[in-house]
Amino acid sequence: MANEVRLRYAPSPTGHLHIGGARTALFNYLFARRHGGKFIVRIEDTDQTRNVENAAEEQMKNLKWLGVEWDESVDIGGPYGPYRSMDRLDLYRKYIDQLLAEGKAYYCYATKEELDAEREEQIARGETPKISEKHRNVTPEQREQYEREGRVPSIHFRVPENRVYVVNDLIRGEVKFDSDSTGDFVICRPDGIPTYNFAVVIDDYLMKISHVVRGEEHLSNTPRQLMIYEAFGWEPPKFAHLALILNQEGKKMSKRDESIIQFIEQYRELGFLPDAIVNFIVLLGWSSGGEEEIFSKQELIEQFSLERVSKAPAVFDTVKMNWMNNYYLKRQPLETVVEMCLPHLQKAGFVDEQPTPQEIERVQGIVALYQEEMAYCAQIVPLASLFFLDEVEMDEEARGVLQEPQVPDVLASFRKHIEALSEYTVESIKALLKEVQKETGQKGKALFMPIRVAVTGQAHGRDLVQTIYLLGRSRVLERLKRVV
Ligand code: GLU
Repeated sequence: MANEVRLRYAPSPTGHLHIGGARTALFNYLFARRHGGKFIVRIEDTDQTRNVENAAEEQMKNLKWLGVEWDESVDIGGPYGPYRSMDRLDLYRKYIDQLLAEGKAYYCYATKEELDAEREEQIARGETPKISEKHRNVTPEQREQYEREGRVPSIHFRVPENRVYVVNDLIRGEVKFDSDSTGDFVICRPDGIPTYNFAVVIDDYLMKISHVVRGEEHLSNTPRQLMIYEAFGWEPPKFAHLALILNQEGKKMSKRDESIIQFIEQYRELGFLPDAIVNFIVLLGWSSGGEEEIFSKQELIEQFSLERVSKAPAVFDTVKMNWMNNYYLKRQPLETVVEMCLPHLQKAGFVDEQPTPQEIERVQGIVALYQEEMAYCAQIVPLASLFFLDEVEMDEEARGVLQEPQVPDVLASFRKHIEALSEYTVESIKALLKEVQKETGQKGKALFMPIRVAVTGQAHGRDLVQTIYLLGRSRVLERLKRVV
């Protein structure tokens, strides 16, 4: 199966799954599925100073929630494991030894002080500091001497001189790199743990990865990786580097950018739908070529291609994200939306932790009123607070409505009829409004606006009859009393 399509998402467990990581994972997943291949999640945890506990598990949990499912990984294993770099140290060692034996890598015994001094000299000479190549040609005698001194070496790759390395990027075309600009980069630290640029090659090779799709920030790493493939005589995978994601100001989206919700977990908590997020994220770089913007996962699997991924940066548009989620939310069955809204209402203290069937029914009615307009489910709290709070704030416009001359009449008649209703139902409220109309001679806005403002505090809102019904008689009377 030499030509099997195998892609991987290879997060370092340094934090939560963010938009950029989710996009990388999604594109790899879609490409693999599109071509009937395999999708692998591999954890690259060799930079131990940056690792965060449980970050890998958390990222995988959120990927799963998005519906980006893998065929091989740390949790389910697979034929090319282990899938966590730190469990693969013996494998790396073997290949490092091979490079050392062939003279393609060498020990560097320079101490931190020596390296710092070298660096300062370079800066003083006005040069850009370069990685130290001081021990490129250490003799066996010198080596022994250093060993006797108890120095612990790192291992550098011997970068071929005067060569041009060409990345044939599937998205950006040919990108050339001068080998001399690289320097003899470190492949193994003094603690025996390999660096990313080395481990990634060994892993991609042994895991038979056919395509590497990853963020643009890794493009400059690719020539180093090509050198290592070359040193072993291995054929490299195909590469595709995804352009940056920019925020609305056109700046590179950083993890600290507060103008954007960054983490998938946050979207999940706010009550976004995974399919909407996937649909939104895929458009951060990919387009179908047509006008269509709504794609199910299945459609994406059928249509995704790297040829349609843009070289230009994508702009993260929060308004569009909200629009997209609203589009999906409106089309959900009411029960699903209720289930998603309930925790938010409970957290706000609006609904009991153990709601009664009547309470649930009321929540269903309330959510149904707002399903059309919510971008995400956490918005139910401000939207529906008028149904749960005793006091409602009135804005300028609402207060204006109450100044109109017909208002005292309308509200008095409305109140009288509400008090007299034998059964408080949607039907009876509808009939009651007709009565008030007859009795006061008011209709349309002149009739409904004062009633709406009096019972909700707002000049605009959803269906008035439903609103009056869902507020419940005592709350309606309470509010009327306050206005009059
Ligand atoms: N571990 C790298 C990262 O999290 C992934 C690099 C790659 O895909 O080769 O950025």
